[in-house]
Amino acid sequence: MPAAQLGPELRQPGVRAQEPVESGVQGRPFPHVVVVEDLLEDPLAFDPGDAGGRRQGVWKIGQMPLEVLEQAAEFEVFGLQEFETAARAAGFGGPVVEGEEQVVLGFPVGAQGAGEVLEVFPGLLGAALYQCLLVGLQAVPDLLVDALEAVEDGHGGPPIIPGPVAARDPFRKAGRTAGRRTSMTEISTDVVVLGAGPAGYVCAIRLADLGRQVVVVEQEALGGTCLNIGCIPSKALISAGHLLQQARSAGEIGLDFGEPKVDLGRLIAWKQSVVDRLTGGVGQLLKSRKIQWIQGRGRLSAANAVTVETAEGTTRISCRDVVLASGSVPATLPGFEFGDFVWSSTEALAPESLPGSLLVVGGGYIGMELGMFYAHMGTRVTVVEATDSILPGTEAELSRVVARKAKKAGIEILTGAFAREWKEKEGGVEVVVEAGGEKKTLQADRILMTVGRRPASEDLGLEAVGLKTDRAGFLEVDAQRMTRVPHVYAIGDLAGQPMLAHKGSAEGLVAAGAIAGRPGAAWDVRAIPAVIFTDPEIAYVGMSEREAREAGAEVRVGRFNFGANGRALSVRAAEGFVKVVADAGDDTILGVQMVGPEVTQLIAEAALAIEAGLTAEDVAMTIHAHPTLPEVFMEACEDVHGLSPHAVRRG
Ligand SMILES: Cc1cc2nc3c(=O)[nH]c(=O)nc-3n(C[C@H](O)[C@H](O)[C@H](O)COP(=O)(O)OP(=O)(O)OC[C@H]3O[C@@H](n4cnc5c(N)ncnc54)[C@H](O)[C@@H]3O)c2cc1C
Repeated sequence: MPAAQLGPELRQPGVRAQEPVESGVQGRPFPHVVVVEDLLEDPLAFDPGDAGGRRQGVWKIGQMPLEVLEQAAEFEVFGLQEFETAARAAGFGGPVVEGEEQVVLGFPVGAQGAGEVLEVFPGLLGAALYQCLLVGLQAVPDLLVDALEAVEDGHGGPPIIPGPVAARDPFRKAGRTAGRRTSMTEISTDVVVLGAGPAGYVCAIRLADLGRQVVVVEQEALGGTCLNIGCIPSKALISAGHLLQQARSAGEIGLDFGEPKVDLGRLIAWKQSVVDRLTGGVGQLLKSRKIQWIQGRGRLSAANAVTVETAEGTTRISCRDVVLASGSVPATLPGFEFGDFVWSSTEALAPESLPGSLLVVGGGYIGMELGMFYAHMGTRVTVVEATDSILPGTEAELSRVVARKAKKAGIEILTGAFAREWKEKEGGVEVVVEAGGEKKTLQADRILMTVGRRPASEDLGLEAVGLKTDRAGFLEVDAQRMTRVPHVYAIGDLAGQPMLAHKGSAEGLVAAGAIAGRPGAAWDVRAIPAVIFTDPEIAYVGMSEREAREAGAEVRVGRFNFGANGRALSVRAAEGFVKVVADAGDDTILGVQMVGPEVTQLIAEAALAIEAGLTAEDVAMTIHAHPTLPEVFMEACEDVHGLSPHAVRRG
């Protein structure tokens, strides 16, 4: 279609189209016009994604929503007889229908520049094919493939459009004759979610519930790190270790089970059954919402296209929005590459046999959780931690309680210590550890590296859309979890600290809401709880006392020990305490720290209190059932005002 037919307002730079565009053909107004932005001499100043664009029915190339296209029973193409013929033959032709249901693909003659398609097919054909490819006309990519193959086969010159293609299955594999090309499947959807961890699958589910068509791309198993090799299997094993401990110490209360035996094969099989049940559940959740899962490795090939390498070949998915949720992977130290002797958490969660001794490098939460599990199983555990205490980032008064209990369980903790090198020795390892300027050599059967995790931002095709990560590998996102590239979102571990499953899921819900256009969809949380399943457990939410003071707040602190709680004593878990940090002025709870029994559960009440802006008095005045562990939180809130009835008064 000649440029003149687009209407004068579209040809002037910086001018918004105000009215439906006259086609210039038969004088009809066409409510939906596709404009190839790069093909115009002067880029258009309007944003076709905004409401103005929608109202006027003007869309940039690739951004016409699928709903519009799907509803359109007819589109007309001007200026290219072959394309029109082929498109009609592919089932997109037919009689013109009334009013709004019309779509026009309009391109100026001599157009250039819309990606590789236009390199091969300059002009109208390329632009039209490109548009169709992007917005999801299922049959047209076949035309493109045919035409590309024709060029590859030596026809060259002007593209050869085959005859009628009406009967084609748009989802069939298209690669046929060209030697270089493997099979290529083309599909389109509203949103592609890349990665099916707790961030990605939750986002996909919410998107589907909000009426979006979603394709999930996952290279491994549904559920991501969390369900398969992280939170869930670790907590299953930790609970088994805890049970073992309880059985061993039951003699103290007159119950003697004898020395418990561990059948590792059955234990790991049980753990896997928990994982399988949950990951199977995710599969059902997706299926029940008609969310398609493609198993394969995906990368961005454009802001609105993801290419997936699957076992069967390549799938290209065109879409309007992409959500990147590729998570994170275990980090290690130079020279400590993962293998038979150097485990990551993944190997530690599925051992073939229990090592007699284990050197844990990194005393963060994963190292301490797994280290304690192995210690409970009877493995001799040494923890090498570079900072001056285990669980760095956790308040010292909390981590001290765990360090004490870890030592009781036989774990040796070396702080301010660095693992420098290792070598295999007699079926085990010899590790050089440096502490206080001195080196010593430690022997163990295996090394467990838990020095942190790094975002999985490599090979995601970020360069294809001009995205860069920060130095740590995270993608920067805004309140909607959109990256700097419109329509490309990032959530979960990929989108920054804290790298926690529930933070990723919450981001997934925000991104889904933003994509679906829900008003107010934005990241707006006061606090994210953190939980550590050591023995005893640690949990905290909001600001620590130090953080609150550093932020300039005047605070009052309340505290209550589990040792004075009936329920804690009756379940033989009386170590630890709850600490509440409240604003001295208005009594608002600013932060809560806990160490003790079941605090990973108790922290939910504290998170709710902070999120709801409750005061310490609000919690203190809430009747808590007796005898329960949450009473400790209530008493700590009373103690903020010096009024805990069960606190012993001194002096
Ligand atoms: C041992 C361990 C214990 C943990 N315990 C807890 C805990 O108790 N509580 C907690 O909150 N957090 C815990 N975590 C952290 C938690 O697992 C992560 O924060 C969480 O899984 C992040 O979710 P995500 O969806 O961002 O990424 P992930 O769960 O890592 O999922 C990302 C998915 O994307 C896939 N993927 C990546 N790249 C591609 C690609 N190019 N194409 C296709 N697919 C791709 C991956 O295969 C993966 O399945 C633990 C982690 C570990 C290792």
